[in-house]
Amino acid sequence: MNVVLVTGGTGLVGRAIQNVIEHDKRENEKWIFVGSKDADLCDKESTRKLFDDHRPTHVIHLAAMVGGLFHNMSHNLDFLRNNIHMNDNVLHTAHEYGVTKIVSCLSTCIFPDKTSYPIDETMVHNGPPHPSNYGYSYAKRLIDIANRGYYDQHGRLYTSVIPCNVYGPHDNFHPSASHVIPGLMRRLYDLCKDGASTEDKVFTVLGSGKPLRQFIYSIDLAKLIIWALREYDSVEPIILSVDEAQEKSIAQVAETLARTFNFKGKVVYDTSAADGQYKKTASNAKLRKYLPDFQFTPFEQAIKETVDWYIKNYDRARN
Ligand code: NDP
Repeated sequence: MNVVLVTGGTGLVGRAIQNVIEHDKRENEKWIFVGSKDADLCDKESTRKLFDDHRPTHVIHLAAMVGGLFHNMSHNLDFLRNNIHMNDNVLHTAHEYGVTKIVSCLSTCIFPDKTSYPIDETMVHNGPPHPSNYGYSYAKRLIDIANRGYYDQHGRLYTSVIPCNVYGPHDNFHPSASHVIPGLMRRLYDLCKDGASTEDKVFTVLGSGKPLRQFIYSIDLAKLIIWALREYDSVEPIILSVDEAQEKSIAQVAETLARTFNFKGKVVYDTSAADGQYKKTASNAKLRKYLPDFQFTPFEQAIKETVDWYIKNYDRARN
């Protein structure tokens, strides 16, 4: 029996994996989803107790301190230290307990700031990350270094995936700590709530609206992470992203959201706010070699599902 422990199992990606696994569970697999209430992964003893209780054979390591541009900019040291501690505790405890495979999550936003495009898996360590999120980035990059070490020294198949921006149900919608899509959704929700007329309202988007991003629906990412756990047998990281042609500007995202919320007022771009990296286009060519026919959910459909979920679950969402 394979016992799969999912750290960060209560978060955006963890919940999506739970959702997919409900329909795609295999006979020889037992899945365990844990959040910060089950163990503080910044703490070695708490991490040990978790592994002692569940004795996993496989780990999907999602737990991390995660935040949007503005939260990262003001808390780089916290992002660095918390993530280094969590990653080292999980990887090393897993090794001590004989875990045979780990899939950890890096992110496309940890790549070098100055780079050529599209970014690919060989470029993770090729230069400093964008100054806005260096703490998070260096902590994440070290997972790849550790994976290589566990393979070289112990023959372990600990690998990593590199998702682009993720969105979907169970995201963090907190106004100051959220990523762009849930942040904009939260603002639109507040503008549109109680069926108020929106014609004379203003929806302010921070930044110019020009930066380009690839967004992956959490359910699509969940399917790909489960595939990586079952089938992807290399220590080398693999980018899990939509195709390059599916890149969107922040303005396109804001307008899609405004339409989905049926917002009738004015969309305004506050150019005094930081834009972050202009683009960070990633190539999914490696993924496409393995899964040429994988169908990503169309953006409008996935946004609609996410907005519907948020409106229905506002009271229990992370606000
Ligand atoms: P969330 O913020 O939604 O969830 C974070 C998870 O980590 C939660 O389950 C949380 O537990 C858990 N966690 C945080 N701190 C601790 C701790 N000290 N001990 C134990 N558990 C802890 O993150 P996402 O689902 O968005 O991200 C999942 C992974 O994907 C992360 O590694 C992230 O870096 C990566 N990623 C995310 C992207 C995105 O756009 N969201 C993009 C690219 C990569 P609880 O909720 O119970 O407190």
